[in-house]
Amino acid sequence: MKLLFAASEAHPLIKTGGLGDVAGALPRALLEAGLDVKLVLPNYAGAAERLKGARAIAEFPVHGRAAPARLIEGRMPGSRLPVWLVDAPEFFAREGHPYVAPNGQDWPDNAQRFAWFARAVVELAQDRAGLGWRADLVHANDWQTGLVPALLSLEPDRPATLFTIHNLAYQGLFDAGMLHALDLPPEWWSMHALEFHGRLSFIKGGLVFADWLSTVSPTYAREITTPEFGCGLEGLLAARSDRLSGILNGVDYRVWNPARDPYLPAHYNRKSLEGKAACKAALQKEMGLPRKPDVPLFAHIGRLVEQKGVDLILECLSLFRRNRMQLVVLGSGDPALESALRAARAGFPRRIGIHIGYDEGLAHRIEAGADAFLMPSRFEPCGLNQLYSLRYATPPIVHRTGGLADTVVDADDVHIADRTATGFVFDEPTPAALRTAWRRALKLYRQPRLWRRIQKTGMRQDFSWQRSAGEYIALYRRLLALRSGV
Ligand code: ADP
Repeated sequence: MKLLFAASEAHPLIKTGGLGDVAGALPRALLEAGLDVKLVLPNYAGAAERLKGARAIAEFPVHGRAAPARLIEGRMPGSRLPVWLVDAPEFFAREGHPYVAPNGQDWPDNAQRFAWFARAVVELAQDRAGLGWRADLVHANDWQTGLVPALLSLEPDRPATLFTIHNLAYQGLFDAGMLHALDLPPEWWSMHALEFHGRLSFIKGGLVFADWLSTVSPTYAREITTPEFGCGLEGLLAARSDRLSGILNGVDYRVWNPARDPYLPAHYNRKSLEGKAACKAALQKEMGLPRKPDVPLFAHIGRLVEQKGVDLILECLSLFRRNRMQLVVLGSGDPALESALRAARAGFPRRIGIHIGYDEGLAHRIEAGADAFLMPSRFEPCGLNQLYSLRYATPPIVHRTGGLADTVVDADDVHIADRTATGFVFDEPTPAALRTAWRRALKLYRQPRLWRRIQKTGMRQDFSWQRSAGEYIALYRRLLALRSGV
């Protein structure tokens, strides 16, 4: 199966969020599973320099720019994955963020940049760059590649198409006149195609025209068909729900493994959790908290934005009055939330430790050193931190939404009895519901035998990319069968 995986970012070449993680890891797992995969990205400043063995292999015309596209091929650092970088210096060779200019506004030519990239992807998929490689299937991701399935739908003989939603809140909306400026078919100016409330929507190119849709967890796949989570696209998504799948993202257990993690002061595994106590002591010291082995240490890591619900955590500080407990928070984002966290620390200086900023190593040490992890996200397409927490024997306390609902099993009586519990799940994103779940965790923490069992059950869970890749391959096969039946 020849698969062209199209994205606007991929770790470690370029990353702004979860899409970068997925586009870096999933194609690699698919390659290891035997697929003939090419990952295609724009050639951002510095990207080609990071590729192994990068060389120009083709030039081909792409509508929307006088000069031809240049294609650079190389391998992803640390893997055999072939990467194609489509080069158009005036569009992509800019320093800084791929989507946002230094003034904080989107790049003013984002529509032209990503429309042109989509056209280049179509040329490659259809083997019009003279490479002797024609895609059976094109997997496009988020609004930046939304026009790929739309443009491919115009081809008489085309590959199957899958479009994955990583974040429905970002839709690639542009002024109405852009449809004409980009020379897109006038009939696409319709609510049944790319129009969205008087604007041109790139994400609708994927949502309307792809053979199949997916998102990054089964629960989020259902949620986005409802007004609460659908960002105005719930009608369209509900209408296509028979062709909408949810496949969980994976974890790179080469990087997130408490038995080998180079960021940790001590190591541990499912058979012996002893090293975790040393990680806890070191974390307490690093965060300026008293070194108390028996006091439960809770943690939160994340972007400080409304979505992640750190304000709900701050509403629960009354718990500190009655319970011996500690809390550490690592994050950055909304200045109001940052100062609220600083105020919380000032209120409980010996119980709360905070670090404002982005710190990869500290994130690992928190996952290992904490006793339990708080993730009260209001919505969460998949979520990664709860998955790391499971592997690090740090039971997560989560709101029952999106990927959190799909990956954490609540320690209620039934799941404790059948030994499937891995954390604590609450139903409403409210301080009261979080407080109740938090109290349940405090209570169970005092029952070491049960707590240990929950930790070990969590550690056993497999959220590897191999597993996700298997699900994508099954879906790809289904799509190809569907297409050949057309
Ligand atoms: P999202 O993609 O919505 O930010 P996820 O849970 O899917 O949320 O992934 C967030 C990733 O970013 C995780 O790997 C998490 O550890 C990391 N992260 C978030 N904030 C920080 C931070 N301040 N320092 C270090 N890592 C962070």
